[in-house]
Formats: sequence, C-alpha cells, structure tokens
Amino acid sequence: MKIVVDRDLCIGAASCVALAAKTFGLDVEGKAYILNEKKDTAVTSSEGTVVESEQTGDMDPREAIIEGARSCPVFAIKLYEDDGTEIIL
Ligand code: SF4
Repeated sequence: MKIVVDRDLCIGAASCVALAAKTFGLDVEGKAYILNEKKDTAVTSSEGTVVESEQTGDMDPREAIIEGARSCPVFAIKLYEDDGTEIIL
C-alpha cells in the first residue's frame, strides 16, 4: 500500500496520528508526515507539498492506516494499493 499526505491541505487535527501513531506524526509546523523518513519523498509542485511512502512492517496494520486516513477532516490522506488503485475511504 502507498500512503500519500498532502501537507498543504493538512490542518494538524492529528486524528490520523491518534489512530495510526506508528504511521503518522506531526512535525514542528503542525503538519502530518509519514514515520518512515528514509523512504519518504517530498515533492513540491504546483499542486503543493506532498509526502508519500510505501507501507512498511514498522507501521500500523493496514486497517489502522485506513481508519487514520478516513478520519482526516480535510481529506489530506490518500491510500493506494500496490497496483496503483486508489483505496476508497
Ligand atoms: S488527520 Fe488530516 S488534517 Fe489531521 S494531522 Fe492528519 S493529515 Fe493533517
């Protein structure tokens, strides 16, 4: 599964962190990031700043990550299957 966080949309509500604390964290700006810094890639584009990472064994179980993403009030988190299909939250 691939995890994508749009940090421009993020308002720091932290519900993703509460539900999947081994996957999401808040940085000093109060914006969510993914707790897998080695594999994170920060991308700045005309659409904003996005961080993405593959799910790793150190993270929460799949269902917890989905619940964390689903809890985001501003829909800043998107999840994708390994084949690229978006997981409907
Ligand atoms: S739940 Fe959404 S708004 Fe809240 S910290 Fe996570 S990504 Fe940001």
